[in-house]
Amino acid sequence: MPDGEVIHRAAAALRIALVGRAISRFESTSLLGPAPSPGRIVERVESHGKHLEIAWDDGLVLHTNLRLTGSWHLYRHGERWRRPGTQMRVEIQTADWIAVCFNAPVVETYREYDRTRHPGFGPHGPDLSRPDADLDESINRLYHYHDQLAPVCEALLDQHVANGIGNVYRCEVLWACEIYPFSPVSVLDADDCAHLVTTASGLLRSKLRHSPRITAAISQPGSFVRGDLAVYGRNGQRCARCGDTVQVCQPSMYDRLLYWCPGCQVHRSIETMQQMPGIDEVREMDPHPAAVKFLANLPWRRSHPIAG
Ligand SMILES: [Zn+2]
Repeated sequence: MPDGEVIHRAAAALRIALVGRAISRFESTSLLGPAPSPGRIVERVESHGKHLEIAWDDGLVLHTNLRLTGSWHLYRHGERWRRPGTQMRVEIQTADWIAVCFNAPVVETYREYDRTRHPGFGPHGPDLSRPDADLDESINRLYHYHDQLAPVCEALLDQHVANGIGNVYRCEVLWACEIYPFSPVSVLDADDCAHLVTTASGLLRSKLRHSPRITAAISQPGSFVRGDLAVYGRNGQRCARCGDTVQVCQPSMYDRLLYWCPGCQVHRSIETMQQMPGIDEVREMDPHPAAVKFLANLPWRRSHPIAG
């Protein structure tokens, strides 16, 4: 599992091996965008969080998001790779080195001078706190989010989807819609996206009209949790909707704290597990007591009517 430090070190090694050198070969099995041309010089290698970028002298930038599965390795010619070739996503050769990226979910290129055309760097989404916000545009941006494997709790914080949803309201919106926060965007249908965006818009606008905050349990019409928030900052307390205990976690080391209820935020949890088989098995083998507790608390392990 890559963390910031590992990626930072990988970037440092790639910088020493590649910067100032011409590439002799570029291969990718999952590249979105134009491929760098042989002969072009690598100008810089940067990392921030889980992202690693390589820029060439013609302004082309390779962006890789390593998430939980990806990694960059450096090999000499003829050296045996430590991962199977089938997991290769990018291979960059110079006269002396071969840099290989394995299993990165996002591999794409963009032109540095044209950053606005990059899906992750383009114009911001509609400001949902405004009464005239274009909700359809926001729904569309969420549904067609450029990183379909991103968990919905992360996508909701992306200003390119919608402006105005901070950490407090992403937790509240997910609770109001009963959505499993770790579902990848790919398992959401158009109705889910519409529900999330209209709920966010409703909550943000009610925040402007009223003080203190009001969280509307939109999934239960007429039910309001007045004067307080439903889950944010309420870890260890009972969920107002199902009575389960509100949990807090940090989805990744780069993310902010997420408050959620494992008892009732189960919508799309089954699809998430089906789309990512293996998650369960990996965690099953972890003998750490904290992992055992975590497993026991998973909603689909607690004879939940939906999870079975
Ligand atoms: Zn609940």
